[in-house]
Amino acid sequence: MNPLILKKGREKSLRRRHPWIFSGAVEKANGKAGETLEVRDASGKVLGSAAYSPKSQIRARVWSFDPAEAVDAGFFRNRVQKALALREGLAAAKHTNALRLINGESDGLPGLVVDRYADVLVAQFLAAGVEHWRDAILDSLTELSGCEAIFERSDAEVRKLEGLEPRVGFARGNRNATRCPIVEHGLNYRVDVEQGQKTGFFLDQRENRQRIRALAAGREVLDGFSYTGGFAISALAGGAKRITAVESSAPALEVAKETLAANPLDASKVDFVQADVFAHLRKLRDGAAHFDLIILDPPKFAPTAAQVKNAARAYKDINLWALKLLAPGGLLATFSCSGAVPPDLFQSIVAGAALDAGGEVKIIERFGAAADHPVAIEFPEGEYLKGLLLLKAG
Ligand code: SAH
Repeated sequence: MNPLILKKGREKSLRRRHPWIFSGAVEKANGKAGETLEVRDASGKVLGSAAYSPKSQIRARVWSFDPAEAVDAGFFRNRVQKALALREGLAAAKHTNALRLINGESDGLPGLVVDRYADVLVAQFLAAGVEHWRDAILDSLTELSGCEAIFERSDAEVRKLEGLEPRVGFARGNRNATRCPIVEHGLNYRVDVEQGQKTGFFLDQRENRQRIRALAAGREVLDGFSYTGGFAISALAGGAKRITAVESSAPALEVAKETLAANPLDASKVDFVQADVFAHLRKLRDGAAHFDLIILDPPKFAPTAAQVKNAARAYKDINLWALKLLAPGGLLATFSCSGAVPPDLFQSIVAGAALDAGGEVKIIERFGAAADHPVAIEFPEGEYLKGLLLLKAG
């Protein structure tokens, strides 16, 4: 194995079992993209093995902190098996056939995301290491999951940072996967694995959708950034009076309508609006509309730390207008999936919006990602989704 030698004192994060080695910590490294290197501190002590990524600022991602553990096909089979076993033990496994099976670093497989939608797997290879071991990983996934079809969605922006070209298509098997039928908490959803966002569905919001369902009875609901209508349809199933779902993507709304039709629910209560949420909130306000339950689940406004300032402005804007649209006694479920915006910052942005909106607002619950998105305790970067349930005083 070629060595990766760290600068003096730069082994500290590895001792805390953090899996990323940044370029600035590397004294010397040689190898091809994806090659397994032996990680040594400045004194020559071996700390483990890592996948080399010469183009990325995250220059290497640790496979193992055990210098004796070989990185071969068997290694990947073990890690995949462990990740699958964790999911089998989750409560969610009993009420859904759609789960995140592999959550990157937090499952010991840096850069790999695998979601299961019924009998189709969707895989994203997002770093040089997992790209190098792609075949071994795909073989293990087919063998251990029992799913014959694996659709690859390696088209995320982050691949560019690794110097990798996008790749989209069936990696194993072949079938139509533009409308995978899945079940979640007794509701039917259609998932466009081939062209939908990310891997097709936001599995991380599963338990929060269920929470919205429990809160929706008798309420006038606004679902902002609704994508394929996950929150809107959950609210309808929970007995909402009416629902307005606002989303800019026409294909997402098509899937939302098909999902709605796939459930024994009164579709006439849902109004899907193709619009920009920022503009539409203002329009609703001009029309003196009021809602009893508003959900705001925007895209990642801050993909990196450099965008946090603009993101803060955007979060404040939508939360301000949503709070203005909320009737007294109304609820606002507001989310952020920007990893670069930590929970305390998000809360203070929303507090600023509440101050400007006027009136008394209290946090009554907090939201996070579902349990099939575990966060390895040494890898806080894995925790990106946060949400607040706010109550506007009556
Ligand atoms: N709540 C959804 C996920 C939302 S993802 C669920 O649980 O499934 C964010 C969505 O916001 C995407 O569908 C994206 O198309 C949409 N979007 C992004 N910017 C928008 C804007 N300015 N106005 C309306 N929708 C927008």
